[in-house]
Amino acid sequence: MPGGHSQTLRPFLWRAETLYPDQEIVSRNHDGMQRYTYSEYADRTAQLANALDEYGIEEGDRVATFCWNHSRHFETYFAIPTIGAQLHTINPLLPDEHIQYIVDNADDQLVFVDQSLAPKLASAAEGAEEFEGVDFVVMGAEESDALDATPYEEFIDGHPTEYDWPEVDEEQPAGMCYTSGTTGRPKGVEYTNKMLWSHTMATLTPQGIPMADDDVIMPVVPMFHVNAWGMPFTATAAGAKHVYPGPQPDPEDIANLIQNEGVTVTAGVPTVWLGLMDYCKNNDVDLSTLDTVIVGGSAAPQSMIRWFDDRGVEVLHAWGMTEMSPIGSVSHLKADLEDADYDTQLDKRAKQGIMVPGLEFKVINEEGEQITHDGEEFGELYVRGPWVTKEYFKRPDANEEDFEDGWLKTGDVVTVDPDGYLKIVDRAKDVIKSGGEWISSVELENAIMAHDGVSEATVIGVPHEKWQERPVAFVVPVEGADRESMVDEIYDMLREDYPKWWLPDDIEFIEEVPKTATGKFSKKDLREQYSDHSLVEGNVPEDAAPDSDD
Ligand code: AMP
Repeated sequence: MPGGHSQTLRPFLWRAETLYPDQEIVSRNHDGMQRYTYSEYADRTAQLANALDEYGIEEGDRVATFCWNHSRHFETYFAIPTIGAQLHTINPLLPDEHIQYIVDNADDQLVFVDQSLAPKLASAAEGAEEFEGVDFVVMGAEESDALDATPYEEFIDGHPTEYDWPEVDEEQPAGMCYTSGTTGRPKGVEYTNKMLWSHTMATLTPQGIPMADDDVIMPVVPMFHVNAWGMPFTATAAGAKHVYPGPQPDPEDIANLIQNEGVTVTAGVPTVWLGLMDYCKNNDVDLSTLDTVIVGGSAAPQSMIRWFDDRGVEVLHAWGMTEMSPIGSVSHLKADLEDADYDTQLDKRAKQGIMVPGLEFKVINEEGEQITHDGEEFGELYVRGPWVTKEYFKRPDANEEDFEDGWLKTGDVVTVDPDGYLKIVDRAKDVIKSGGEWISSVELENAIMAHDGVSEATVIGVPHEKWQERPVAFVVPVEGADRESMVDEIYDMLREDYPKWWLPDDIEFIEEVPKTATGKFSKKDLREQYSDHSLVEGNVPEDAAPDSDD
C-alpha cells in the first residue's frame, strides 16, 4: 500500500520547509546567537539524520539529549523521530543516580549533551556501569574537557543536506520523557508519533494554545521537560518563527529576547514569570509584542494574571502532565463568560481550565463515585485520549497503580464547577485528611503566601492519633520579616476564609522549601521529619485547634 497516511511528525517538517522556507529560527546558543531559516534548519536536520545513520542508529533505537533550549537541540527534535528512532530527552537537573537509572532503563546508546552540562553528565557517567558503551556528542563546543565526546558540528559536517524520510509507523515511539516523581524511581513515558501528531493538532485549535505563521514562539519551559509542552512541534506545524532562550536564561535574557525578537507567545512555569515581573520593577521592558503567556506546571496566581492583563498580555493557564504529552486543559473563557465582570473572569482564568478538544475526563470521589460538578466536591481526576499514555515503560507495578480501565489516574484532586472548569485542589498524596474530611494543602499554601512577609510556604499533613492527620505549615519568610507578629497575622488571615479545623497546628519557619527537579515543592523530606504529631511543637492559638470546636 502506498504510504503517507500515517499520523507522524514528518508532515510538520515538510510543511515548514516547503511552505515557509524563509521563516526564522533564532537561538541563544552556547557559542553566541544563531539565526537561520527553516530551509537551513531542514538541511541541517537532514545532515543530522544522515550522521545518525552512519553512526548506526536504526529504526526503534533510542537517542538521548541532555540539553537546554536551543536550535541544535531543536534539530534532534525532528531528525531523530523522522528517521524512525526515538528522542529521549533527559532532565539534567535530576540527581546522578536517577540519570544512571534512566539511561540504563531506556537503553540509550548515544547522548547529545550541552557543553555547559557535560560536567554534570560526566559526574553521573563516571564509573557507572549504566553508561558502559554509551557515546557522547557535545553541542556548542569544539571539544569537551569533561567527556570524551564528538563535537556536534563535526558529527554532522559533510553529510548530505537531503534525506529520503522513510514511512514510519504511527505507533512507533517518537519521544520519551521520565516523570520526576517526588518519591521512588522516575517512570518512563513513551510518546508515539500518533500521540505527538494528535497533541500538535489539538493544541493548535482555538481552545488549545493557538498559534499561526505570524507568531513568534519562545518556549522557556525546558525542552527536556515533555518536549517543552510540545511547542517546537506546534510552532513548526504552524510555520511560526521560533526563538530559543538557550542555557539557563535569566529574566534579563528573557526580557531581551521578547523585545529584540518580537515574541508573541511564550510559555513557562510561574517562577519564570515571577522573575520577569520582578526584573520589570527596575528595568524598562517593552512587552508590547507579547500576546500570550502560557503558564503551567504549577498554579498561576491571580496576581500574575492581573499583572500581565495590565500590560495587555493574556495569560493562558494550562494544566498537563508528562503522561499527557502534556497538555490537558487550558483556561480559556467560555463565550458566555465574555460579559461577566472582571473578578468573575479572573476566578475562572486562575482555575486550570477546560479540557482541550479530543480528551475526556471523570472525577472520582473516595466512595468510588463521580462527583457533582458544583465547584465544591473533591475527587481524583481521571483522563483518557489519543495523546494520553496507556502505560509506563517497563513498569508493570506503576501501571497497576496509575491506570484503570483505559483511564490514567492523574493523582490530581480537583473540583469541577458548573461551567466545566477544573480546579486542582491538591495532589492525591498531599491532600490532608482530618477527622474524615479533606483539607487542600495547596489552598492553605496559597492563602499563607498571600501574606507580604512570606516568600514561600508549604503545608503537609502530619499523622495524628485522633484526627488521622493535621495540617502543619512551613514558611520561608522574606528578609527582615517580623516572625513573631507574622504567625498571628497569618492565623488571622486564615480564620477569615477557612473553618477552624483547616488552620495548621503549627507554622514553622524554614530557610527554603525543598524542590523537585522540575521545580515543584517536594514535601518528602518534611514528611519524613514530621512523621509523628508529637514532634510538632504547636504554636496554634487555643481557639484554632479542632478540639476547640463547640
Ligand atoms: P509533570 O508531569 O512533571 O509535568 O507534572 C504534572 C503535575 O504538575 C500535574 O499532575 C499537576 O499536579 C501539576 N500541574 C501541572 N500544571 C498545573 C497547573 N496549571 N496548576 C497546578 N498544578 C499543575
